[in-house]
Amino acid sequence: MIRFASLGSGSRGNATIVEAGSTRIMLDCGFSETRFRQRLGLRELEPSQIDAILVTHEHSDHINGVGAVARKHDIPVYMTRGTAAQEKHGKLPTLHFIDVHDRFSIGDLEIQAYPVPHDAREPVQFVFGDGVSRLGILTDVGSATQHIVDVLNGCNGLILECNHDVDMLAKGPYPSHLKQRVGGRFGHLSNRQAGDLLASLDTSSLQHIIAAHISEKNNTEAMACSALAEALSCSESDIVLAEQEQGLDWLTISPT
Ligand SMILES: [Zn+2]
Ligand SMILES: [Zn+2]
Repeated sequence: MIRFASLGSGSRGNATIVEAGSTRIMLDCGFSETRFRQRLGLRELEPSQIDAILVTHEHSDHINGVGAVARKHDIPVYMTRGTAAQEKHGKLPTLHFIDVHDRFSIGDLEIQAYPVPHDAREPVQFVFGDGVSRLGILTDVGSATQHIVDVLNGCNGLILECNHDVDMLAKGPYPSHLKQRVGGRFGHLSNRQAGDLLASLDTSSLQHIIAAHISEKNNTEAMACSALAEALSCSESDIVLAEQEQGLDWLTISPT
């Protein structure tokens, strides 16, 4: 059985916990060690219960706390060579390099990495499995690719970036270079792009859909939910939010 939770999602910090059997990993840590411990406590976990930290890419909202948390609690870290080359994490107790198409296991968790178009050195996203169910995670991606569709098809849970509304981004407070970056092919998914991607996936086994990495300046939770609900022809109340401050409380994927 896979269980997952978020300690926070958005441009001010990201961290997701994924658990299968007796194994727990944290995907990214954009929070200081203190805030990581506080937020982990809200999910009723201790740092010693985290078996590994996986890092998607070197942007600060994903990597800021990785070094401090790994050193203080002696947790092994997994990332691509390109991400590691940016040296945003300082010295790590244990560093495992991964390739963008790697499949590997940590304890009871099966992990599949996949590459995404994003403006980082060697960014990856992940699908987590326990041999029965699969949880797909996709944030920090500027555009969908056929490979992304192939990897996410048939997932039982999906955490999907709904970063911005195109009109709000265009009319919003960001300087024009940032608007171009966020809205570009290597930036972040708009609500519409997220909806289009979701509509193109096989979602017949999907139990949980989570809207994540929602911009506080260029989007609203209501618009993100509505885009995903439209794509799935479901009620907006079926869409769950991973929020910047509240994160996401535990959700469980039931074996089918
Ligand atoms: Zn991010
Ligand atoms: Zn990023």
